[in-house]
Amino acid sequence: MLYDILIIGGGPAGVSGGIYAARKKMRAVLVTDAFGGQSFVSDDIQNWIGEISISGYDLAKKMEAHLRAQEGIEVREGEEIVSVKKAGGTFIAETSKGAVIEAKTILLTSGSKRKKLGVPGEKELESKGVFYCSICDAPIMKDKTAAVVGGGNSALEAVVDLIPYAKKIYLLHRRDELKGDAVTQDKIKKSDKVEIIWNAETKEIVGEKTVKGIVYEDMKTKEKRTLDVEGVFVEIGSVPSSHIIEGLVEKNKGGEVIVDHKTQRTSCEGVWAAGDVSDVLYKQNNISSGDAVKAVLNIHEYLHKKI
Ligand SMILES: Cc1cc2nc3c(=O)[nH]c(=O)nc-3n(C[C@H](O)[C@H](O)[C@H](O)COP(=O)(O)OP(=O)(O)OC[C@H]3O[C@@H](n4cnc5c(N)ncnc54)[C@H](O)[C@@H]3O)c2cc1C
Repeated sequence: MLYDILIIGGGPAGVSGGIYAARKKMRAVLVTDAFGGQSFVSDDIQNWIGEISISGYDLAKKMEAHLRAQEGIEVREGEEIVSVKKAGGTFIAETSKGAVIEAKTILLTSGSKRKKLGVPGEKELESKGVFYCSICDAPIMKDKTAAVVGGGNSALEAVVDLIPYAKKIYLLHRRDELKGDAVTQDKIKKSDKVEIIWNAETKEIVGEKTVKGIVYEDMKTKEKRTLDVEGVFVEIGSVPSSHIIEGLVEKNKGGEVIVDHKTQRTSCEGVWAAGDVSDVLYKQNNISSGDAVKAVLNIHEYLHKKI
């Protein structure tokens, strides 16, 4: 069967795209290894519009149920797209189970994966004081002490997000100068809540049920020190899952797919991208969802040759 649209991913972008594609009566197929996306691991999402507070698990279940309630969309869960090739006017995708899917258009919503520190305690204390999204989780640090690990723009932004909430913020950076933009650096340096620790390599995050501290080594003196903190924000970047469409579309230096932000079109005719896999400035559930809706509406017009 030749599908109108193949949606790759089952996070907020993919599910929103799937719902809209079904409602537009497109012959649609959505392939994802799992539902919910990156915030699945979050205990408490407080900014998904319409929900004052919801766990990542419950949100994933609701998204999946909403998608499955639509008529006419084929959902292939537990399967990944391993490659996509252009074949004349259509696209041929291969899945991890060996299936071959042919579609007129592709909506790539495969998201990204946050880089991890890979130190003891990080995995065990994820969402129990170890966080990867400051916009989402800064309010949890109200009147508490937090550490941010990193030195680029995302780490600086995390510190800025924390300033209104935390009573003290340590910024642990492996070098002796920051990489992020000057305006944000100034904001941070002006705050008496922020202490920058230079040449600091994180070695461990400690705590049993929740985070109690962070251990770092001074890379010059090799001395180890523990800071008492209740939260650790790991902001050392993320890797977009854009390898599947290697060679088909233009990407930026960070591997994000470059899109036209009015329509979500990529440089390859017939391929759209939305959410964290794209070069969208702010990585958030609501934004990913909205951008995928925009993409599907544009795909619908494209398929009907209205453009
Ligand atoms: C710990 C954490 C907490 C967060 N909390 C919040 C929050 O509270 N509020 C908020 O707004 N944002 C939050 N974010 C950010 C938010 O999760 C992301 O912006 C959002 O998930 C991006 O959605 P997406 O659909 O673009 O991609 P993703 O959520 O990354 O979803 C991508 C989907 O594609 C699937 N996939 C990947 N590769 C393939 C493939 N080859 N084939 C098939 N499927 C594939 C994945 O399994 C996944 O289902 C958080 C992020 C993290 C890491």
